[in-house]
Amino acid sequence: MAALPPLPPVAYRYSVGSVTVTALPDGTRTIPLPDGFVRNQPQAAVKAALRAAFLPDDQLTIYFNPLLLEIAGRRVLIDTGFGPQAEPSTMGRLHHTLESVGVAAATINTVVISHFHLDHINGLLAADGTPAFPNAQVLVPEREWDFWLDEGAASRAPDAQKPAFANARRVFAAVESHVNRYDWDQEVLPGLTAIGTPGHTPGHTSFMLTSGADRLFIQSDLTNTPYLFVRNPGWHAMFDMDPDLAEASRRRMLEIVAAERLLVAGFHFPFPGAAHLEKDGDGYRFVPVPWVQARG
Ligand SMILES: [Zn+2]
Repeated sequence: MAALPPLPPVAYRYSVGSVTVTALPDGTRTIPLPDGFVRNQPQAAVKAALRAAFLPDDQLTIYFNPLLLEIAGRRVLIDTGFGPQAEPSTMGRLHHTLESVGVAAATINTVVISHFHLDHINGLLAADGTPAFPNAQVLVPEREWDFWLDEGAASRAPDAQKPAFANARRVFAAVESHVNRYDWDQEVLPGLTAIGTPGHTPGHTSFMLTSGADRLFIQSDLTNTPYLFVRNPGWHAMFDMDPDLAEASRRRMLEIVAAERLLVAGFHFPFPGAAHLEKDGDGYRFVPVPWVQARG
């Protein structure tokens, strides 16, 4: 397929009780299906799952959806995308998306980080390396901070992980004076509770947003592409650092979400990044919400 000219940014805005939630795509990335993308399945099974979802079986499109929450007059961003330096230019577009919905970066009060992979933290920095959200407090999971910024852990890490340690150090050096750490099972902000879902990374965190009678489960990277890992929660994505622990976290939370019929926001869900999950055999059926134009 020939490359098409880029479209203007889109966003998806919805309410959870009195909180306004906006999915603000940072973009997408399409890559050839890597060998061993699912570590514990033969490639033929992965290709079959992609075809069953009516997707091409030789490539993957990964979506990146930071969220903006407007909670009692505060603007809260959850995760930040790749940042404006990203290559290819189909990613790192959060600042354009924010502009398109009329939100200046300087008006963001709080940035909550789910984990320290680069597609979640690099957008903390502007193109010139200064804080992209200069007036924001940056809230990070305590366990994630302890792991990635520990020099011992960095030196013991396999070579393939060393760049991620160096990246976390680089990003947080620039915003350190804005950082506060949070622990699991605490409200990081009113109505937003941190839920430990380790495995993808040691301090990987999901969130439950509660407002009035409404709830939204913000899963972060509990699953990568839902057509593989919501459908098959026992499948291990190559990005999960401790695949067995990640699977346990995933199974525990997906069961709750399906039983309680919760809406789920997924950083790597296809836009608009929100879905319901229905129990189906050993896995779940992914039922994306239809995009609706918000009232102006
Ligand atoms: Zn991610």
